[in-house]
Amino acid sequence: MTRIVVGTRNPKKKSEIESLLQGLPVQLLTIADFPAAPEVDEDEPTLDGNARKKALVLAEALNEWVVADDSGLEVDALGGRPGVHSARYAGSDATDSDRCAKLLAELKGVPDESRAARFRCVIALANAGGVLFTAEGRCEGRITAAMHGAGGFGYDPVFYYPPLGRTFAQLSPDEKNSVSHRGKALRAFRDKLGSYLKQGKAQMQKEYAIGIDLGGTFIKGGVIDLEGKVIHSTSIDTEADKGPDAVLSRIAELCHTVVKGAKIGWNQVKCVGVGTPGPLNRAKGMVYTAPNLPGWTNVPVVKVLQGKLNCAVALENDANAAAFAENWVGAGKGAESMILLTLGTGIGGGVVLEGNVWHGQDDAAGELGHMSINYEGPRCNCGSYGCIEAYASAPATVRRALAGIKEGRKTALKSVLEKNGEITAKDIYDAAVAGDALARETIETTGRLLGIAIANFVNIFNPQIVVLFGGLAGAGDMLFGPVTEEVKKRGLKPSADTVKILPARLGGNAGIIGAAGCALKTFETSA
Ligand SMILES: [Zn+2]
Repeated sequence: MTRIVVGTRNPKKKSEIESLLQGLPVQLLTIADFPAAPEVDEDEPTLDGNARKKALVLAEALNEWVVADDSGLEVDALGGRPGVHSARYAGSDATDSDRCAKLLAELKGVPDESRAARFRCVIALANAGGVLFTAEGRCEGRITAAMHGAGGFGYDPVFYYPPLGRTFAQLSPDEKNSVSHRGKALRAFRDKLGSYLKQGKAQMQKEYAIGIDLGGTFIKGGVIDLEGKVIHSTSIDTEADKGPDAVLSRIAELCHTVVKGAKIGWNQVKCVGVGTPGPLNRAKGMVYTAPNLPGWTNVPVVKVLQGKLNCAVALENDANAAAFAENWVGAGKGAESMILLTLGTGIGGGVVLEGNVWHGQDDAAGELGHMSINYEGPRCNCGSYGCIEAYASAPATVRRALAGIKEGRKTALKSVLEKNGEITAKDIYDAAVAGDALARETIETTGRLLGIAIANFVNIFNPQIVVLFGGLAGAGDMLFGPVTEEVKKRGLKPSADTVKILPARLGGNAGIIGAAGCALKTFETSA
């Protein structure tokens, strides 16, 4: 679908073009859909210049394909200047009949054979890079001595069309459309656009999706191609304290920023995917709640963003998006079945089965972090006990290291704690790499605990690949050694022997790649 903005606020002009372009793969909008669209003065000396200018200025401002037109009457007795006899001819408050009257008064005494006149219409199509082409239509006639007929607008009551022996105001809409300058220009435009789209398809129509990764502190956005490659990405502060409306406006703004940054047009954006934390409903496009985002209760993300962007929008849970991305172009590329665990403040999960992210009936599937490995274990944030999140998340790992320090173990982490007032999972990792025994043991224990949970997942899903994502997943053998050992020890055969357990490969880009990919998947049948 090629998106084209009609350079008018008049919905009639849009539906007129819409009916004419039926059968062509285009979607039409009007500038009424773009509150920020600039007003463009029609002050060029020619119709062609005005149509080109209007299309180009709007195309550059909106980063869209824009079609704009200008029509005018050339009267030979008045020098045949095009565009002179436009709306401004008799002053800005003048009615159509004021204009006709003024023209007739000026032509008083001019003989019939000198009253030759023509209507002309020029239509221009532009994108941000320049004018793509123009199409023109003209209709030859002459100016009558008095007004005839009540239909039409502009100079229709004084423009006499000899082949039909009547003025334009006396023609039926169909008659007028078949002979008028505007009808001819529109048909020429349709033909040119049709062949333009056909021949230019390969390079003009390369399509992309936008991926958004919404977090409590940052929003990351990127333009992703259909092969999962990041073309351009950037991130902005979430400013979550300003509430959902402000955050959604920032997301819309970010979408415009990355489209510009990727040097593509909106025309080439198939859809926008938004990955958000917390429970949501994809069909309703609604986020129920989002941790770290104050005020986010039942937020209609899809509806709001579609309204702001005039583009298809899909919603996805952020861990599912990461799973999709790693399965699409990352560590689990092409795997028919894959489990992904995100290791961070909490433990998130995503399940890919038979090549698709498994959502469950309420879009709530894949909460792998809440697999309980001990019914008498510590209370988890979810209200249950002994969840793997309560054992192997970053805070849980830090707690275990702190306990070791308290017991009086000799460790470099003690001085880090004294200096900073706290230790982080990163401190533990750094100390472990430097050979600190407590730090190393802490990470190995996290690995073993994760391995116990993963053995359960392996028994349930028999996946080809398990991907560990984020934070500690970068700890290498120190973590993956005990994980694999535990899975082999506890998992059933043959699943526990055949499964591969790998670190994620896409890093911070997984969220945007996955959100874009999930949106492409959602809308692939409507392409
Ligand atoms: Zn839990």
